[in-house]
Amino acid sequence: MDFAPTEEQQAILAMAREVGAEHIAPHARAWEAAGTIPRDLWPKLAALGFGGLCVSEAAGGAGLGRLEATLVFEGLAMACPSVAAFLSIHNMCATMLDRHGTAEQKARLLAPAVRMETILSYCLTEPGSGSDAAALRTRAERTNDGWRLTGTKAFISGGGYSDAYVVMARTGAEGPGGISALIVEAGAPGLSFGALEDKMGWRSQPTRQVQLDGCAVGAGALLGAEGAGFRLAMEGLDGGRLNIAACSLGGAQAALERTRAYMAERMAFGRTLDRFQALQFRLAEMEIEIEAARVFLRQAAWKLDRGAPDATKACAMAKAFVTEAGSRIADQCLQLHGGYGYLADYGIEKIVRDLRVHRILEGTNEIMRLIVARSMIGGRE
Ligand SMILES: Cc1cc2nc3c(=O)[nH]c(=O)nc-3n(C[C@H](O)[C@H](O)[C@H](O)COP(=O)(O)OP(=O)(O)OC[C@H]3O[C@@H](n4cnc5c(N)ncnc54)[C@H](O)[C@@H]3O)c2cc1C
Repeated sequence: MDFAPTEEQQAILAMAREVGAEHIAPHARAWEAAGTIPRDLWPKLAALGFGGLCVSEAAGGAGLGRLEATLVFEGLAMACPSVAAFLSIHNMCATMLDRHGTAEQKARLLAPAVRMETILSYCLTEPGSGSDAAALRTRAERTNDGWRLTGTKAFISGGGYSDAYVVMARTGAEGPGGISALIVEAGAPGLSFGALEDKMGWRSQPTRQVQLDGCAVGAGALLGAEGAGFRLAMEGLDGGRLNIAACSLGGAQAALERTRAYMAERMAFGRTLDRFQALQFRLAEMEIEIEAARVFLRQAAWKLDRGAPDATKACAMAKAFVTEAGSRIADQCLQLHGGYGYLADYGIEKIVRDLRVHRILEGTNEIMRLIVARSMIGGRE
């Protein structure tokens, strides 16, 4: 057992952190106010391989493992969890295309996505089905020259912004086995979008409903085998959950570093805050928690990289633990800033807001516990 990151892994984390500090952090608040991330950011990240971190080198990706990918998201999230998480969803879709796409889909859709000339979105949730995703109702019916999709996808990150949407739709009977994955490209007839959702955090990312009203796509839109869509969607989420957890870790780390610096300067009762032992203990508790979260996340990534039989359970455990630790730490950091923590200029309140949704999406943390419990008691209700 070796817990030391390799030189390459250390360099990946340092590079992501530097890139985030240079290209993302100075603009994060302005992008939040604008409600969008400028497209010219993406090619800069793609030049470093961030457009297809776990995409095979044969398909133009960086060919990194899951562990290395989490280091990238941890580093970028130190600058802005919202931007890092948006990139993580694009990467999840790119990996799905790499694993299951045909040669034609890879050439037409994956290659520009890896270069980040195009952005990908993931469409599973519907207004009537979130946690119970296998109950989705969006239908895709075969036509003479392809498929026609009808239904509504809710809460789609990148809705109306992205260039292609990986849509899970029902092509067969009820239940998970009747679901297929189809790629719907922007501009497809019958594709439209709801209003911009007004959110607590992740405000730089556009979130909208994706509406499919008899939306026509070609026969080449099917990703993987017919009926395999739910499996593909869940497989994608194993890695996605690690990346969301890494975004919480990076956000919490940034909050903690700011707080340590703040406490060394802020005076109260004739000394700096970091001279009070009660507050030193709070710092120490956060350090213990963040380090435990980091080790746990990296172990889960290591298991997914090795295809361990309990990898799905490990990813679910890490997602729940790290996102909850991240939120607790960010909230404590806000508290230790006193009233200033509540002000946008100090950079903590945005982290608190951005991290909150990590406990809800890519499977709520209740669903993470369901996955863990099922693995313990063998799928009984
Ligand atoms: C900002 C944002 C961005 C998002 N981006 C995307 C995206 O890009 N693509 C996408 O497909 N989805 C996206 N989502 C949707 C997200 O994945 C869902 O909101 C999430 O899965 C929960 O579904 P729901 O909101 O319908 O809640 P529900 O499923 O209605 O759950 C409500 C509550 O009940 C709990 N609950 C439900 N079932 C159980 C159970 N069996 N046992 C115990 N507790 C249970 C849940 O944990 C939750 O607390 C996004 C959501 C948000 C907020």
